[in-house]
Amino acid sequence: MKDVIIIGAGTAGLTAAIYALRAGKSVLVLEQGNYGGQIINTPKVENYPGIEQISGYEFAAGLYRQAEKLGMEYRSEKVTDIRLEDGAEAREELSSASLETGNKIVETTEQSYRARAVILATGAKNRPLGIEKEAEYTGRGISYCATCDGMFFRGKKVAVVGGGNTALEDAAFLSNYCEKVYLIHRREAFRGEEKLVKELRKKENVEFFLNKTVQELEGGATLQAVVLRDKISGEESRLEISGLFVAIGQMPENGVFAGLVDLDENGYILAGEDCRTNVEGIFAAGDCRKKTVRQLTTAAADGAVAALAAAQV
Ligand code: NAP
Repeated sequence: MKDVIIIGAGTAGLTAAIYALRAGKSVLVLEQGNYGGQIINTPKVENYPGIEQISGYEFAAGLYRQAEKLGMEYRSEKVTDIRLEDGAEAREELSSASLETGNKIVETTEQSYRARAVILATGAKNRPLGIEKEAEYTGRGISYCATCDGMFFRGKKVAVVGGGNTALEDAAFLSNYCEKVYLIHRREAFRGEEKLVKELRKKENVEFFLNKTVQELEGGATLQAVVLRDKISGEESRLEISGLFVAIGQMPENGVFAGLVDLDENGYILAGEDCRTNVEGIFAAGDCRKKTVRQLTTAAADGAVAALAAAQV
């Protein structure tokens, strides 16, 4: 039995652990992969207030150490189900606004736990392009993590697809090691920060391919080229590359909670700025929650809000 169980050890989950522990609660963090969440793939974080520059990995490691020192219990286990102890599982019952607070049972692949409150901080996973042969070339030219795999393409020609901060940062990172970096984006305007776009435009080995989408993947044992389509003219062109870094955003992974908490049409958990879901005692924090701004700062803020509310359950 724990006061608070936190599912997910990214920025939101580990911040929640720090706040709940400092509120004197017993805390168990369950994580199916490695701790740190998405930020560990970001080479440079330069927009976290008070920290001028830090690597994503260092940032995550610092959060983990801080929570560990406070007494966090951490287990690498995948959550398979959450239910209320009284056995109420039907969605109709659970989505009623006046649910009683009760213990929650959290089932993992290993065992079951009980908690007064649960914080869902499951983040999101990389969105695939959804084109033919993508799975076939993943790990053989296609990567979703420039900081993890960039070094394999040292001195080679690569492309990054996407127009958000991740794509811009990936392109900047890769330009330090690769002969050429093509940045492919489906629109003229970028979703990511203007400052990053300006910095990239100054780099001689970075070339922008705007209003273009990746249509086909070509190669043998490994990726050798992509076929691009211009969204305005409809023309197709072939670009020879050894690596394609896909950075087109994330998708939530909340399917396992679909029968318990309300999700929006894209699978994000419906919880407001107070991080409360439709089930009392269950909170959602960070990128797994429906929200407009997904940043380190907002993930950390959610973690604090959810933990302080969970500490009151
Ligand atoms: P994002 O901001 O959601 O951007 C995804 C990009 O991919 C968009 O430009 C989108 O195009 C494009 N896209 C989506 N689906 C596509 C498809 N099927 N084909 C081609 N292009 C597609 O994702 P992100 O860059 O991963 O960033 C996620 C969040 O993390 C953002 O809030 C971002 O600011 C934040 N982040 C912060 C930092 C940092 O603070 N250091 C670093 C990385 C990320 P459209 O623009 O046309 O929709």
